[in-house]
Amino acid sequence: MKYKLAVKPGTTRKNKTGGWRTYVPKFLHEKCIACNMCNLVCPENICYPNKKKKKNKSGKIYYQSDLKYCKGCGICAENCPAKAIIMQLDK
Ligand code: SF4
Ligand code: SF4
Repeated sequence: MKYKLAVKPGTTRKNKTGGWRTYVPKFLHEKCIACNMCNLVCPENICYPNKKKKKNKSGKIYYQSDLKYCKGCGICAENCPAKAIIMQLDK
């Protein structure tokens, strides 16, 4: 018997899942080295260079996440090589 997965990574884009979380990532823009690791590891692929293409003092277009879909899992913070993301309680 074949089983099908009920969900696939990234499919929650169709549903705004941001209301579920307890923790939320805070991006420390000055530390960002724009390596894209947070987006690679994020289950929802919702970490992007900021839309206004603003740069930090190091000249990097810093990243942020789309909090409408962020579930607060913390994987981005765990894997950021620059320690540019911290998790904090969502208010
Ligand atoms: S993983 Fe960290 S340093 Fe890399 S783009 Fe994301 S926030 Fe910036
Ligand atoms: S906390 Fe999880 S869902 Fe939210 S941006 Fe980071 S990796 Fe993505």
